[in-house]
Amino acid sequence: MRELKIKWLFDDVYCETPGCSGGYAEGAVVTLDGEEILRLEPVASCFGSEYDWDRDVVYHMIFERLGFLVKDE
Ligand SMILES: [Zn+2]
Repeated sequence: MRELKIKWLFDDVYCETPGCSGGYAEGAVVTLDGEEILRLEPVASCFGSEYDWDRDVVYHMIFERLGFLVKDE
C-alpha cells in the first residue's frame, strides 16, 4: 500500500499592540511514498495571513495534486 503522509504545521505570532491578539496560521507538508508532493508553509501575521490553510483546503489540494478534480456539492 502506498503511504500518504501529512505533517501538520502551525505558526503563531504574539503581539502586544492593544486590541490585537496576534495571529495563527496552519499548513502542512505532504509526502507520497517519501516524496514531497505539497508544501504549504504557514506564516502567521496580525491581520490574517495568506499563508494559512484549513485542513479541508489541504485535503482538497492533495486530491488535486494527485490528479482528481474535486467538486463539493
Ligand atoms: Zn498585532
